[in-house]
Amino acid sequence: MTPIMVDTRTNTANDDISAQLLGLTDQHIHYFDQAHEQNQKASVNSKKIGIHHFMLNDFQALVKSAALADIEIKIASGFRSFERQLHIWNNKFTGKSAISNIKGEQVDITPLNDFEIIEAIMLYSALPGASRHHWGCDIDIYAANLLNKHSLQLEPWEYESSGPMAKLSTWLSENATEFGFYFPYDQYRGGIAAEPWHLSYAPLAEQYQSAFSLDSLKQCLSNNDVAGKSVILENLSAIAKRFINNINRDHFNSNKADYCHTPAKPRGKTYE
Ligand SMILES: [Zn+2]
Repeated sequence: MTPIMVDTRTNTANDDISAQLLGLTDQHIHYFDQAHEQNQKASVNSKKIGIHHFMLNDFQALVKSAALADIEIKIASGFRSFERQLHIWNNKFTGKSAISNIKGEQVDITPLNDFEIIEAIMLYSALPGASRHHWGCDIDIYAANLLNKHSLQLEPWEYESSGPMAKLSTWLSENATEFGFYFPYDQYRGGIAAEPWHLSYAPLAEQYQSAFSLDSLKQCLSNNDVAGKSVILENLSAIAKRFINNINRDHFNSNKADYCHTPAKPRGKTYE
C-alpha cells in the first residue's frame, strides 16, 4: 500500500497533527454534501458528515464494492470535533444524556462517584481530545437499505447474526481489510465496549495512534471546561491504558501483510 503521510499535503506546521489528534481542527476533513447525496433538501438540522481527505478514495471503493452485494453503506458518524465530543461528554457527566451499560440498560449515576461516572461514560464515549473520530479516519457505519423501517440505535444486537445489520457485518468481516479498514473495537477488553459499527482506516489510524501524546491531551483537557476534569487528570494514565490504547492491535500483526500484498489497484491521487 502506498504510504500516506497525514501531515504532508493539507498541513505544513508540526502542530497540525497535534491539533488533528485532539479534534481542534477540521482542515484534514472532506465534508459530504448529505442533502445532495440523498436527494433531499438541505435542512438546518442535517448533520454534516466528514471524513479524512486521504481516506476518501478507499472509502468510496468500499461503498462501491458493498453496493455490488446490495449493501448501501452510510456513515452515521464520521469526524467529530473536540467541541462536539465535549458537549457529548458534559451532557453525560451531568446526567443530561443517558449513559448505557454493556447490557444496553440506562445507568443511574446518582450513587456514583466522579471516577465511576467516568468509567461508565467511557464504555461508549471517548474523552474529548481522545476520540478516534477526531482523526477523521474512523467512522460509524450502517447499511441504509437493511434498516427496513427500523431506526438505527448503534447497539451491538443490530450487527449480530439475527439483527438487521447482519449482512453488513458478514460482508465487512470478509472485505473491509481489502480497502484498508478494520475494527479497533472488535471485542470488549475491559475498557470500551465492542462496537461492530466502528471502522478505522489503518493507513491513517496507525499514524495518528503513534503520534498520540498523553501530555498534549492533558494540556488540552486542563484548558477546557470538561466535567470531572480533576478526577480525569489525576487518573489520566490509567484511563489511557484502559480506554484509549486498549484496542484491537492483532489486526496489524495478522493483516498488515495482506494489505501490502494486495495487487496494485488504482488508488486516489491524494496518496501520491
Ligand atoms: Zn465510533
